[in-house]
Amino acid sequence: MSHTAYIGLGGNLQDPQDHLAQGFDELSALPQSRLTGRSRLYRSAPMGYLDQPDFVNAVARISTALEPEALLDALLAIEVRHGRRREFPNAPRTLDLDILMYDMVQMATARLTVPHPRMGSRAFVLYPLQELAPGLVIPGQGAVSALLAQCADQRVTPLEGDEP
Ligand code: AMP
Repeated sequence: MSHTAYIGLGGNLQDPQDHLAQGFDELSALPQSRLTGRSRLYRSAPMGYLDQPDFVNAVARISTALEPEALLDALLAIEVRHGRRREFPNAPRTLDLDILMYDMVQMATARLTVPHPRMGSRAFVLYPLQELAPGLVIPGQGAVSALLAQCADQRVTPLEGDEP
């Protein structure tokens, strides 16, 4: 049984564009999965902890037979390969991977909340998501277009020269 999942990618250390490009390759190599779409890369200002470089963000769509927690484990393994260290919340990172949506599933376990609880207030998620899936509605949060209108003050710009 194949499911559609949207994955958020972000990073702001050690050539983040390179880490994201490798991230797309690693998502396409996940077991029982294939990459079915990806957004352009976007540049965004840091949130929370401000004294750090801008982030590069993107969203990928995969078709996968992995169940949500198995998918999370696979994403965490990719993060570890990229040398991600969890020092403090909102700290700089080489590659962060989040499960944004998994079909229209709404779930919350100790390890995993889907849809990602903060995605609807983050323009760096919503812009690439709208590019990839215009008209998408996030279960429990609303239409991407309506959510974007509420965070128009956040600075997010496409990186030039990056075509999917
Ligand atoms: P962070 O390092 O801030 O991205 O948090 C990663 C941790 O958040 C993971 O170890 C997961 O257990 C947990 N988590 C909860 N919901 C999600 C989600 N939708 N996607 C990714 N990680 C999640």
